[in-house]
Amino acid sequence: MSSSSDHARRGLTRRDFLAAAGLAGVAVGLGAWPRAGRAAGPIALPPLPYDESALAPVISAQTIGFHYGKHHKGYVDNLNKLIQGTDLADASLEQIVKATAGVADKTAIFNNAAQVWNHTFYWNSLDPAGGAPSGRLASAIDAAFGGMDGLKKALKDISVGQFGSGWGWLVADAEGKLKVVKTPNAETPITQGLKPLLTVDVWEHAYYLDYQNRRADYVQAVLDKLLNWSFAARNYG
Ligand code: MN
Repeated sequence: MSSSSDHARRGLTRRDFLAAAGLAGVAVGLGAWPRAGRAAGPIALPPLPYDESALAPVISAQTIGFHYGKHHKGYVDNLNKLIQGTDLADASLEQIVKATAGVADKTAIFNNAAQVWNHTFYWNSLDPAGGAPSGRLASAIDAAFGGMDGLKKALKDISVGQFGSGWGWLVADAEGKLKVVKTPNAETPITQGLKPLLTVDVWEHAYYLDYQNRRADYVQAVLDKLLNWSFAARNYG
């Protein structure tokens, strides 16, 4: 795959580039793209869709600085080292995730690739302005959870209940029905026939500087104040 600067020279749009990178599902809200100097290899670290301080006080700039600048970047750097010179070197991120899921000798590649995908999806699941769902998505939430209070309780319970590191997700199944699921470690619903709409990272690195052991307080604050409902609606389709 070409670097982001190659795409810029060819005049491709940001959406084209994200589609090529396997990130078409998270093509919105990523801010200026491509940004020079970000791509260190075939898989790029997408820019944050907002400033590092934009989610405070729910999530501090210090947490975002480590989480995006060290953890997310680390997964990108590890992935690029692991795929260099292999048959996955030119694959899209989503192709890498799906090709390595459940493959015993590809665990390290899967873990890093899925963490890159999940983190990009997480940043886009958050919106400093918050908001509320509307239209078709709001109707689907009513049908599945009896309304927003029911959705928040379900998503909070499943996110807090994930034992150890992982993720809480709002997803649509093959019939378009909404549900909440949790995944451990790097696991991701895109390998399970599910369409993610939103996610909450419940690895300790997502909240420990701000909330220490109080995962439930972090999840509650994210659900109340930061979910990006326009991103969810676009994912729902
Ligand atoms: Mn994380």
